[in-house]
Amino acid sequence: MSATIIDGKERAAALRAQVARAVPRFTERTGRAPGLAVVLVGEDPASQVYVRSKGRQTIEAGMESFSFTLDASTTQEELLALVRRLNTDDAVDGILVQLPLPSQIDEHAVLAAIDPAKDVDGFHAINAGRLMAGLPSLVPCTPLGCSILVREQLGDLSGRHAVVVGRSNIVGKPVAMLMLHLNCTVTIAHSRTVDLPGVCRSADILIAAVGRPEMIRGEWIRPGATVIDVGINRLPANGDGKTRLVGDVDFASAVQVAGAITPVPGGVGPMTIACLLRNTLQAASARCGIAFDELMG
Ligand code: NDP
Repeated sequence: MSATIIDGKERAAALRAQVARAVPRFTERTGRAPGLAVVLVGEDPASQVYVRSKGRQTIEAGMESFSFTLDASTTQEELLALVRRLNTDDAVDGILVQLPLPSQIDEHAVLAAIDPAKDVDGFHAINAGRLMAGLPSLVPCTPLGCSILVREQLGDLSGRHAVVVGRSNIVGKPVAMLMLHLNCTVTIAHSRTVDLPGVCRSADILIAAVGRPEMIRGEWIRPGATVIDVGINRLPANGDGKTRLVGDVDFASAVQVAGAITPVPGGVGPMTIACLLRNTLQAASARCGIAFDELMG
């Protein structure tokens, strides 16, 4: 038996299209387009690709894109000054500081400086706390993308056992919280978990956010389970100097056992930027006192 492949590209395109349809309704009511500011410090090639892609998709959705590229030697004070300026800029609804930051800058201090109302990455402690408390908040994009994919695949999740492998603040913990709010019974596994294969095998929904290429194999998966692979790992391809992307799940063996599975690439990855656009519109709506759900139709 071979699993259903969850097409993240197609679902992300549908979400982007939904946002793009809602943007004119926002613009009509406010006289301006929602604006997203993306700040890149340094020249990390992967970050440059992400930032370009975010800018392009923001514009394609009909929003304003403000892009700031700062030198790798930028000081923390300089970056904080830019964040404070963006916090008070009325044309900016969302602020995203691309991580990782150079070592001279304290990431936590920068994330804490972003106005929580404009924190479209959802990493500010206020938004993390509101998510934990079940209050409306800006939810981190990758976890939000995972929860959308799972819900669209399975419908009502009540009573299902979700196992999240990974407990980072940006993926593992928030995605576990979202699964809990969707009435799953949730287990969070990590590097100290005893019998990880056994824990994974108990999952109806297995979410892998580990950062270890192809660690989770088919025999760790309960037949018919839904597998969401968040991992993005680059491995050398065939010794020709090129690289290929793989997830945290060994796709070839997992696809034989799972009921449904996200591929890498083309699974969770595309959902992340689509959710960023969605969050930008959500932040813009909240700042202007417009009901977001009404706007999204
Ligand atoms: P982190 O490195 O911050 O966290 C990894 C987690 O995995 C930690 O909690 C760690 O446990 C756990 N872990 C590591 N090794 C093992 C192991 N052998 N057994 C069990 N648990 C283990 O990673 P992130 O959460 O930031 O990212 C996870 C993956 O998701 C990465 O591949 C990353 O590239 C990808 N990613 C993809 C995104 C997308 O858009 N698709 C966005 C963000 C991330 P412990 O806490 O005990 O150390």
